[in-house]
Amino acid sequence: MAEKQIAIIGGGPAGLMAAEALSLSGHRVTVYDSMPTVARKFLLAGKSGLNITHSEAYGLFADRFGAASPRLRAALDGFKPDDIRTWAAGLGTETFIGSSGRVFPKTMKASPLLRAWLARLEAQGARIMTRHRWSGFADGGLAFETPQGRSIVHYDAVLLALGGASYPRLGSDAAWTGWLRGKAIDIADFQPANCGFDVAWSGPFKERFAGMPLKAVTATSEAGTFPGEFVVSQAGIEGSLVYAHAATLRDRLTSEGKAALIIDLAPGRTAARLSRDLARQDPKASLSNRLRKGAGIEGVKVGLLRELADPATLSHPESLARLIKALPIPLLRPRPIAESISSAGGIRWGELDDGYMLKKLPGIFVAGEMIDWEAPTGGYLLSACFATGRAAAKGIDAWLKR
Ligand SMILES: Cc1cc2nc3c(=O)[nH]c(=O)nc-3n(C[C@H](O)[C@H](O)[C@H](O)COP(=O)(O)OP(=O)(O)OC[C@H]3O[C@@H](n4cnc5c(N)ncnc54)[C@H](O)[C@@H]3O)c2cc1C
Repeated sequence: MAEKQIAIIGGGPAGLMAAEALSLSGHRVTVYDSMPTVARKFLLAGKSGLNITHSEAYGLFADRFGAASPRLRAALDGFKPDDIRTWAAGLGTETFIGSSGRVFPKTMKASPLLRAWLARLEAQGARIMTRHRWSGFADGGLAFETPQGRSIVHYDAVLLALGGASYPRLGSDAAWTGWLRGKAIDIADFQPANCGFDVAWSGPFKERFAGMPLKAVTATSEAGTFPGEFVVSQAGIEGSLVYAHAATLRDRLTSEGKAALIIDLAPGRTAARLSRDLARQDPKASLSNRLRKGAGIEGVKVGLLRELADPATLSHPESLARLIKALPIPLLRPRPIAESISSAGGIRWGELDDGYMLKKLPGIFVAGEMIDWEAPTGGYLLSACFATGRAAAKGIDAWLKR
């Protein structure tokens, strides 16, 4: 059998993982990317430590992908969190489990892993063509804009691994949705995921508190109650604790037009104890002093109470205690998708067969964040990109040998 030529468009974690598997099986693989270098989002993820996967019980892990969990399951089963750790170790990057169960490289960086990965791809014969922007289908092939002009190439199989719609400056600008919709592929509109939210802060509050973290609090929405921290920003709120609720809050804003995140500013104390301790404070003392002495609350937490509460509530120990335990932050809208960690939406599962091929476009496969799934932060995003990259590679291999 003549060697089959495979084009992978998109050199992020999903595309590179497929390139690794396919070149190892002896296929001729070319990875195209529009950017001057590949895997820019992966490298940026490395700036915050590169949370590469999660160590929780596998059943729980595999359920973190919401409605898409059943569809992703076979791919996840094929490349589990332990496999990811073994794979990274094979590229010289040992990992460790952090206190939250999240898994990180011991170096807390992506660049050594990426360097070793690209060297492996080169050794396996995979070619990487950067500054090649796929611009749609033409003459039965793929059109690319390159520094040398437009070129049209033909392949035996194609993997699209073009990413979602967040951080478009890193390459994943979702321009491909137009070209695939032109081929009648059903794509759910992209929406921000793992994002911050706008809040109508007053000028003085923003001026004084923007950039400040609220530590050791819990936040509640319909998604549940989670401990953690978040940051007050000029526009609203952001940070890991907000991202954990983001999908639920975004969907509620869409369906109801309003949503609030409920904050417990003193999770270690009951409302009864707070009420008792606050009642013991001198009523003539300032609010800051009463809160500091009676509730152990200071700084931005006091600012938040003043900003959001009706002044009458603040003067009564019982109502103040209730508010400390459940302070609603009313949200206006999610922050724009360009700022969000990831995106929800993408190619609907009904368009794919079990090998990640587009049923309407035989020979064209997809992987990674461009498919319609979402997950919280915690290493789930990269895990699913790796897993779907491998699953699509398997699908391509089987299809070429059919
Ligand atoms: C700030 C930040 C931190 C993150 N941290 C983590 C983390 O710690 N853990 C985690 O699990 N996830 C994290 N993520 C999410 C994770 O990085 C993404 O989910 C993942 O990179 C998606 O992989 P992908 O291969 O599907 O797409 P991408 O990584 O987006 O790669 C797609 C590639 O396709 C290329 N491309 C797009 N369109 C074209 C075109 N027309 N022609 C040619 N090439 C094109 C792009 O240039 C890009 O290189 C983070 C994301 C961000 C933004």
